[in-house]
Amino acid sequence: MNLILLGPPGAGKGTQAAAIAASRGLVQLSTGDMLRAAVKAGTEVGKQAKAIMERGDLVPDEIVIRIIDERIGQPDCENGFILDGFPRTLPQAAALDKLLADRNKQLDLVIEFKVDDAALVERISGRFACAKCGAGYHDKFKQPKTPGVCDACGSTEFSRRADDNAETVKNRLMAYYKETAPLIGYYFAKGKLKSIDGMAPIDQVTHAIERLLAEVAA
Ligand code: ADP
Ligand code: AMP
Repeated sequence: MNLILLGPPGAGKGTQAAAIAASRGLVQLSTGDMLRAAVKAGTEVGKQAKAIMERGDLVPDEIVIRIIDERIGQPDCENGFILDGFPRTLPQAAALDKLLADRNKQLDLVIEFKVDDAALVERISGRFACAKCGAGYHDKFKQPKTPGVCDACGSTEFSRRADDNAETVKNRLMAYYKETAPLIGYYFAKGKLKSIDGMAPIDQVTHAIERLLAEVAA
């Protein structure tokens, strides 16, 4: 099964992509994670993307399209994947259509997360992750079970994203409404879109997605 999780920054895409990837044996493809890894490694792509990401603007289409094209061609994606944070513009969506068609793959479902702006800001402001395995947490909504210890790998080191600050969040939300929100209509017109209430607690959102996936599989 090949899925897209569509929604504004902080909507819960990464959280749900990780849960669904684990329960369904799918690969999570987060362009944000891939770009952050490139920045950390100091690659050419990382050098091009760093300042853009710090401002909260979108990285040029050709860069992210190339990254996804290469990644989707790898063998572990054969069983299916969850795109988290891609596509984010209409040209990216068109490029995805083409690269899937070229590989005889299809898109099964696009899940749109509906979340109020105020909740997005609160979620982004409290977000942190395990520095070792990347497992995601939140100061208020998702603390590790043992405080200070990662549930997934036991590490005691955590990090916060450089772009998770009030100023950048505004820019990222603007980029979402201007560049990404038109994809809701794009996928609705293709009959691929389902929307969920992303304001619900994490477990309830996971159940809502599982119900949608069961409908699609039936
Ligand atoms: P995205 O990948 O869409 O940017 P994340 O999955 O990283 O969003 O979620 C943003 C923050 O909000 C994280 O700290 C996460 O733990 C928290 N979060 C995710 N889903 C929910 C939810 N349904 N309710 C409350 N907090 C949530
Ligand atoms: P995310 O982890 O999804 O919140 O993405 C973090 C940042 O990476 C974004 O603010 C953009 O600068 C960049 N980015 C991630 N995915 C894309 C994409 N598909 N297109 C353009 N920029 C992206």
